[in-house]
Amino acid sequence: MRKLMMLTLAMAMLLSVFLPAQTGAVGEGPNYNGNETIKNERLTSYEDMADFLHKMDDRSDLLEVEVFGQSVQGRDLFLTKFGNNPDNPTVLFLTQQHGNEALVTEAALDVIRKLSRNTPQVREWADHVNVMIIPRLNPDGAMGDVNFDISDYVAGGQSTRFNANGVDLNRDHVDRNEPETYALHTNVLQVYDIDYLVDFHHQGTQSAVDDRYVSGSILYPTNPDVNETVVEMSKQLGSVMYDAVEDRGFGHLGKYRGGEATTISRNGLAYEYDIATLLFEMRGMTDHSNPDMVLGQKSNGYLIQQGVISMEAAISAIADRSIEEADITFWDELPFQGRKSE
Ligand SMILES: [Zn+2]
Repeated sequence: MRKLMMLTLAMAMLLSVFLPAQTGAVGEGPNYNGNETIKNERLTSYEDMADFLHKMDDRSDLLEVEVFGQSVQGRDLFLTKFGNNPDNPTVLFLTQQHGNEALVTEAALDVIRKLSRNTPQVREWADHVNVMIIPRLNPDGAMGDVNFDISDYVAGGQSTRFNANGVDLNRDHVDRNEPETYALHTNVLQVYDIDYLVDFHHQGTQSAVDDRYVSGSILYPTNPDVNETVVEMSKQLGSVMYDAVEDRGFGHLGKYRGGEATTISRNGLAYEYDIATLLFEMRGMTDHSNPDMVLGQKSNGYLIQQGVISMEAAISAIADRSIEEADITFWDELPFQGRKSE
């Protein structure tokens, strides 16, 4: 697939030598701030991801990959299961409910690759924690394969927030009208005993704290009917991930300004299943109708790292139970992110 794209690109470049430039056309070059081309073909396609996950399943006895449903367009939805000891706590990492929020899935695939290796650390984790990963709940939106027009997006409609029916999956956690959310609830959340869940997203590019762009933002469940213990565990999960990210030079996190609705997973899953949840938003999306939301690929490296580091921190702290002593007072000091002044 990637080879084919490269070939197509090469042909397009050749042709452009002979053809006059299409001045003003959308296809002229998706830019972020006018100086960076967006090259989403570097991201893992659905086909590459499916191949990769089957390979990981074959490689490791500690990893099992389950298909728990299909998207609107018939793509498989994958659940990766690691550990599988019912006596141990379980954490679920969920990525890409929104198709144009891709780097968190790249991070998840990196973590799955690590979990497939038979290292002392991985064996230690397998003895003490179960890790479930759903990389990309919205494969149709991620592939831009949807039943509505997104060609006016700044990168030409490579991917979109919505599923193929044009529905925002992260507003569908009460009704579950869409096959993706229905399968998540029926075949995962109602089947497995999940203690912690991180819902990974990407936000726009302009949010800042202390007048510096943030690398991301976090928030625990804020619906008033969520069990107090669940909220405290959610704050502990956030504490562990915050510390790991802030230890890095690139790490600069703010508090996400979020509402109380149970239609979103941060609130809904905590309320309905008593799962400790954390929303983790990374900076910038792969495509959008608004250029302010889109980040070119120059930042991919550190943002993927941010995902990997935070996931591994959560796994470690749940495995050795240090999460139960995590300091949650930082939440009171953590500033809400705002717009950068210019
Ligand atoms: Zn999102």
